Amino acid sequence: MAIIAISKTSLSNFAGRVFGTACPGCRQVSVSVCANCFRQISQIESSLSSPKFHATVGKSAGDATNNDLRTQVIVAFGYNKVVRQMILSMKYRNIRSSVAVLGSALADRILQETINSQKAIDCIAWAPTTATRRLERGHDHAEMLARFVAKELQVPCRGLLRRVTNQPQTGRTRQQRLIGPRFVSRPINNQSVVVIDDVVTTGTTLRRATQALYESGAKLVICAAVASTVLWQSSIESCEPAKARRSRP
Ligand SMILES: [Zn+2]
Repeated sequence: MAIIAISKTSLSNFAGRVFGTACPGCRQVSVSVCANCFRQISQIESSLSSPKFHATVGKSAGDATNNDLRTQVIVAFGYNKVVRQMILSMKYRNIRSSVAVLGSALADRILQETINSQKAIDCIAWAPTTATRRLERGHDHAEMLARFVAKELQVPCRGLLRRVTNQPQTGRTRQQRLIGPRFVSRPINNQSVVVIDDVVTTGTTLRRATQALYESGAKLVICAAVASTVLWQSSIESCEPAKARRSRP
């Protein structure tokens, strides 16, 4: 129960600190994330039955063989409507209040998991978007998220990864997604890295990023994402929003 208390306090603090002109969750006029959207995502986050991991199973051809790359991704939310809108607002409109609310929830989840498993984190990295997308949007939302999470966890944020392929994952078929982007990493001598992305769908992007980090000397790579679409389809959609609606005052 203590864990839930930390999450709620932290989320409230950030909601109080940030100001915007429209709620990034429902786009209604509000000073920040509106109370209704905020309540919805807080309830999903604090629910004991909410998802904690997105498991991506199996190795793909060419993966480093010395490390177990059956990646488990720490996730803060299922991919519900409000979370989706907030991710899109962060991605396409650079809305800082979404970065703060989603980033603080993700930082809490990472902290809980690393405390539980007694793993120390040396730095935070992110899976960068394509150069073209970055140029179009003027920012990389994964980087903004990573920087926010790093500040929360008081560890360095490092731009370790470079995307070699310029093909974005969004809008591709599942088959194309499974091939995934390619990354190279700066040398990272024996450090534990948390690599962050916004949404995990097939897990390929994070698996590829993990592979590059291990190949460059990382001791441990932990994957983390704001939301998982698979968990949304399998569990969240069927129970969580209904539960959230019922318990709404
Ligand atoms: Zn709202």
